[in-house]
Amino acid sequence: MSCLPLQKGILYGPIDSRRLGKSLGINLMPTGYKLCSFNCVYCHYGWTEVHALDAAPFIKDMPSHDDVVDAVESALKSRLEFDYLTFSGNGEPTLYPQFATLVERISRSRDRCRPGLKIALLSNSSGLGLPEVKSSIKYIDIPVFKLDAGNEDVFKSINRPFPGVSLDGITANLRSLSGIMIQTVLVTGDPGNVGDEDLNEYFVRISDIKPQYVHIYSIDRPVPNTSIARVLPDELERIAELGGSRTGVPFKAFFIKQQYGHGA
Ligand code: SF4
Repeated sequence: MSCLPLQKGILYGPIDSRRLGKSLGINLMPTGYKLCSFNCVYCHYGWTEVHALDAAPFIKDMPSHDDVVDAVESALKSRLEFDYLTFSGNGEPTLYPQFATLVERISRSRDRCRPGLKIALLSNSSGLGLPEVKSSIKYIDIPVFKLDAGNEDVFKSINRPFPGVSLDGITANLRSLSGIMIQTVLVTGDPGNVGDEDLNEYFVRISDIKPQYVHIYSIDRPVPNTSIARVLPDELERIAELGGSRTGVPFKAFFIKQQYGHGA
């Protein structure tokens, strides 16, 4: 079995998600390759083909702002049923040039066509150092950020970030936001992030960030690094319970991953 194919266009789904209800995905990234600032060992789209923090050189391969707004407005005006619009797709959505401007336009379309519909973002957290990306969060109803590690070594081995992206930097940026959700993928093997010390350090970061809640997952599909394995449901439940009691933040364990991006 191989990893999932990339999304073929701007919109995908709607996908039934226990987390978000029926979610219509928005893919801003190229359709011919995965463009991401991470290269996670568990990514269900396979290894990152273009590893970058600056996506400007690849703009010719991405849809224009007008194309994205037109596609979303057509869906909003159609009879298609969905509960959320979710920015995710073939890599890290916040790499998209002038991301905040686009999100503001989508939120205005939503207000005009389907007020009350929620907008979600699934992000790997690496773009939050940019004021442009931080300013987009005010238009997002459900901002979900990835945090898989408690120390830099685990971060580098699990998420394989673009050089210069640090876990400390990400933690500081996440701490500066309020009302965010954290999603975490836990794996065992080489590399893994569920050793006692790994979890202790991870819980310290969650306490520091103080998100609204944390959702934890493991893997249930083919992944690019075959020396990792899934964390079993009982163990995920135990970690969720431990996380809640150590941090005071509500944790929830999920056992089936959803197919709308970011490997989780
Ligand atoms: S899981 Fe998300 S952040 Fe990680 S490589 Fe895949 S698309 Fe990028």
